Amino acid sequence: PTYTKDDIRRVAKEENVKFLRLMFTDLYGTIKNVEVPISQLDKLLDNKLMFDGSSIDGFVRIEESDMWLYPDLSTWMIFPWGNEHGKIARVICEVYNADRTPFLGDPRNNLIRVLDEMKELGFTDFNIGPEPEFFLFKLDPETGKPTTHLNDQGSYFDLAPMDLGENCRRDIVLELEKLGFDVEASHHEVAPGQHEVDFKYADALTACDNIQTFKLVVKTVARKHGLHATFMPKPLERINGSGMHLNMSLFTKDGSAFFDENGEQQLSDTAYHFLAGLLKHARNFTALTNPTVNSYKRLVPGYEAPVYVAWSGRNRSPMVRVPIARGASTRLELRSVDPSANPYLAIAAVLAAGLDGLKNKLEPSKPVDRNIYSMTEEERAAVGIVDLPSTLHNALKALRTDEVIKDAMGSHLYSNFMEGKRLEWEAYRLEVSQWERDQYLEMY
Ligand code: GLN
Ligand code: MG
Ligand code: MG
Ligand code: MG
Repeated sequence: PTYTKDDIRRVAKEENVKFLRLMFTDLYGTIKNVEVPISQLDKLLDNKLMFDGSSIDGFVRIEESDMWLYPDLSTWMIFPWGNEHGKIARVICEVYNADRTPFLGDPRNNLIRVLDEMKELGFTDFNIGPEPEFFLFKLDPETGKPTTHLNDQGSYFDLAPMDLGENCRRDIVLELEKLGFDVEASHHEVAPGQHEVDFKYADALTACDNIQTFKLVVKTVARKHGLHATFMPKPLERINGSGMHLNMSLFTKDGSAFFDENGEQQLSDTAYHFLAGLLKHARNFTALTNPTVNSYKRLVPGYEAPVYVAWSGRNRSPMVRVPIARGASTRLELRSVDPSANPYLAIAAVLAAGLDGLKNKLEPSKPVDRNIYSMTEEERAAVGIVDLPSTLHNALKALRTDEVIKDAMGSHLYSNFMEGKRLEWEAYRLEVSQWERDQYLEMY
């Protein structure tokens, strides 16, 4: 929604808002909050609020730590779970440098920059419909800490009483609707304790804001049910992990740029070039769409997550699927993404990959309509199907080779990301797991 400063002053008073949460997202996709009392509202609305950015991951050095927060008024939202003293409102902010230039270490600003590049190519909107999945685990009643005990044994589209998460999921949907979300579907997923809530597509920036808000709401509501909601990609071995499929569509002022009544499969040349760009850069943007050590435990055969770079109009197993809807709903579904991704970074990278395909008129490989998992390595090689990276380390190596994706991150985000993720990988390498001891302790 569009709000003027006066609208916000008025609702804040009417609704008895006492605190303002100024939100932005750090490099790793974590939402950061600066909370200020309502007395600071005028200052905020006039872009006169400063904060210290030095303690934020991937932000700035100590000597240049003062930063401005510019509120994006369209993201104003009053939380329904305030307390007796008054309500809490949030607004998502853009981070600006002390000299009032946009701070390019802010992933949201960076996405705005990439979207501007898209607009220069004549497109008006890049729409994203996300399908985030998550698990609900019981909280330990003694310590209040999350356990890995599931709270149900339900399965895909099951109904209660199998699905004990149902009440919680329904509450999640209700809270989301109160906050203005247009929830299109919510269902139990394939794995026990696993759920999915799909909300309506929006332009890329709003979709990212929505994903961030969504995670906050899911976690908050779950806690009230004595549950811990996690977006960790693969919390338990031997059952499905959690993905966050992204349905993507591109628009000009004349409508869908992906639809062409007379095109092959009714897809436009633009759709094919964009798809080709996605396929070309897929290995290299995987560090952004799947940024944790754990992400790669999900991208394995047998659990409905993609493992190979391929596309299909029919089969569900490939990385990119073209759902059958056409017209304005013509879209590409990227299935590799997981919900540990920083949405602003992942979507900037994916968009840049597609645009590169357009600029260079790339052609995609042939669709793969058979089950890739039953093909041999030779058969895959013969049709040019490559693997997604198998570890975070390999994904980082791939990213290092790709100037298009690096440009889509900007140098500040790129160097901080690489350094942070290198440390994460190094820390992981130092660990010896129980699996290894079970496997080798007696064998050798
Ligand atoms: N959970 C699966 C994944 O990891 C997706 C399952 C589905 O939505 N069909 O991507
Ligand atoms: Mg789905
Ligand atoms: Mg799903
Ligand atoms: Mg899907």
